[in-house]
Amino acid sequence: MASTFTYDVVIVGGGPAGMCAGMYAGRAMLKTVVLERGTLGGELLNTEIVEDYPGFERVLGHELAQKFADHAAKFGAEFRTGVVVECVRKLDDETFETRTEAGDIFRSKTVIVTAGGTPVKLGVPGELEYAGKGVSYCAICDGAFFRNEIIAVVGGGDAATEEADFLTRYAEKVYLIHRRDELRASKILQERLFANPKVEVIWNHVVEQVEGDGNGLVRNLKLRDVTTNAARDLGVTGLFVFVGFRPNTGIIEGHVDHDDMGYLLTDANMQTSIRGLFAAGDVRAQLTRQVTTAVGDATTAAIAAEKYLKALEDGDASEPIVGTGGYTA
Ligand SMILES: Cc1cc2nc3c(=O)[nH]c(=O)nc-3n(C[C@H](O)[C@H](O)[C@H](O)COP(=O)(O)OP(=O)(O)OC[C@H]3O[C@@H](n4cnc5c(N)ncnc54)[C@H](O)[C@@H]3O)c2cc1C
Repeated sequence: MASTFTYDVVIVGGGPAGMCAGMYAGRAMLKTVVLERGTLGGELLNTEIVEDYPGFERVLGHELAQKFADHAAKFGAEFRTGVVVECVRKLDDETFETRTEAGDIFRSKTVIVTAGGTPVKLGVPGELEYAGKGVSYCAICDGAFFRNEIIAVVGGGDAATEEADFLTRYAEKVYLIHRRDELRASKILQERLFANPKVEVIWNHVVEQVEGDGNGLVRNLKLRDVTTNAARDLGVTGLFVFVGFRPNTGIIEGHVDHDDMGYLLTDANMQTSIRGLFAAGDVRAQLTRQVTTAVGDATTAAIAAEKYLKALEDGDASEPIVGTGGYTA
């Protein structure tokens, strides 16, 4: 049966940002819930090894996720499983109502959105038909299914470059298909990729169709050279798509400021254009999206949410949130 709950802080999404915000809000003695639709960890669960999180030279993504969850729980954050479908602010009493697919309602004066993003699809014939049957958006999840096979990766950013390299652990050969004549990925990832003899980059090409064997398995890609318009076939049994993420912001009812790609715009305190609604991590418009930036955002958002709640209590929440600029012990 659907129920209604009341919290000080509702956090939407249990990735690194959500769990870190949960840790800070819990430690500030705020009644805090993290709502996660799946398994706690977010994109960390799609990352085999993290080697750029300070203090951990090399840590498995799922191990780091577990440490985050344990730490937040230690300070009193609650975790609940639920797909959030709507978050709306009632104008009369400044309360947010966050509703899950199951119909549960979570009332709170502050919400921190840490819902990350969803992989962008290529939008070509055959892609969805073969999703899960050769087309994948997660190398760590599906790579092992392609042992000794010939596969392709599409994209030119960090994710595509890193995952093409990673997939050579399993695949005999990995084609990286990119629509331009240079990658956008960071130099260190490019260097690793170019040094890998199992990777061949197909420059200036796009995938136009995914074709199968009639029994539901991928067998071929129809490619087009964007410089000459020439078509060609590429025989592969798998296609991994890494062409970007869309921020998961559809749950917010009413207008909230965002950039051209839909990422939420915030002030320096991570507050969105809706008072009391904060955003942190991959869902937020910013230069880069990493675990470190996600937890940095989340720290600020949780502390700003605490100050906002205090200001509401004191009756002066219309004032900008100000801190000491100092330290919280
Ligand atoms: C392949 C890959 C490799 C990466 N490698 C690294 C690396 O080595 N180092 C590094 O620092 N960063 C890496 N990153 C980036 C890093 O994983 C992200 O920046 C980080 O996870 C962002 O955290 P987040 O909490 O903002 O979002 P996410 O990790 O995306 O978490 C968002 C969470 O919100 C949940 N959610 C979304 N919508 C709803 C809803 N409606 N209801 C309930 N829950 C919802 C999702 O299920 C998810 O768990 C990598 C990313 C990818 C894709």
